[in-house]
Amino acid sequence: KRRKVVVGNWKMHTTSAEARQLAKGVANGLGNEDDVSVILCPPFPYLALVREILKGSRIALGAQNMYPEKEGAFTGEVSPMMLLDLGCKYVILGHSERRHKLGESDMFINQKVRFALASGLGVILCVGETLEQRKANQTEALLDRQLSLGLADVPADALPRISIAYEPVWAIGNAAHHATPQQAEDAHAILRGRFANLFGEEAAEAVAIQYGGSVDPENAAAFLRRNGVDGALIGGASMKADQFLAIIRAAK
Ligand code: 13P
Repeated sequence: KRRKVVVGNWKMHTTSAEARQLAKGVANGLGNEDDVSVILCPPFPYLALVREILKGSRIALGAQNMYPEKEGAFTGEVSPMMLLDLGCKYVILGHSERRHKLGESDMFINQKVRFALASGLGVILCVGETLEQRKANQTEALLDRQLSLGLADVPADALPRISIAYEPVWAIGNAAHHATPQQAEDAHAILRGRFANLFGEEAAEAVAIQYGGSVDPENAAAFLRRNGVDGALIGGASMKADQFLAIIRAAK
């Protein structure tokens, strides 16, 4: 049975004081949900301080992005070595905000995925269709493309460090318009099927696929009890410790 994973993506939010308080709130409020993996992904400037707060807890630290080089003349970028140095175990790659607001291509995301894995990080690869693509019945083709291009040339021994997040673009930060649990289950089945084509049945059975898009304490259980929904990637509701903790409990 796959372990559930709940990830907080803080995006470009919080001051240092708020980051400290939020991380403390989550660390102190965590109960006996030992069968749920919990990952916090603060903005780069707060990784070090959140790491200090999470010391001694079982919450893992992740980053929201990285650049696929070890070091060099890449002004403004952050390498996986720096993330590892700060205690990060994971990195979110291919988030729709980076694809759509910052113009990242599947090819660039694939470079990042391969470099992150080669560096020793775990990768949370985000995929998801826009509303236009869904309306035009292109969801399946889009998921197929983002998954196979994103994971191209990934070595088999790195597969245990990959998880997938299905985040329909139209459902992100849009409580009025979140996906139904059935839509999530269907998309996850498509993704797991493609993963099996790429890497085999056994790897596909093992890979965790999280749902993301306006998950909150009220709707979390409905998503998390669906077949093939192995966790959740949380934006807005991860900004309040009590809401995030309620979602972790719903994953149990
Ligand atoms: P929201 O939970 O705010 O919809 O954000 C989802 C998301 O993009 C997480 O990466």
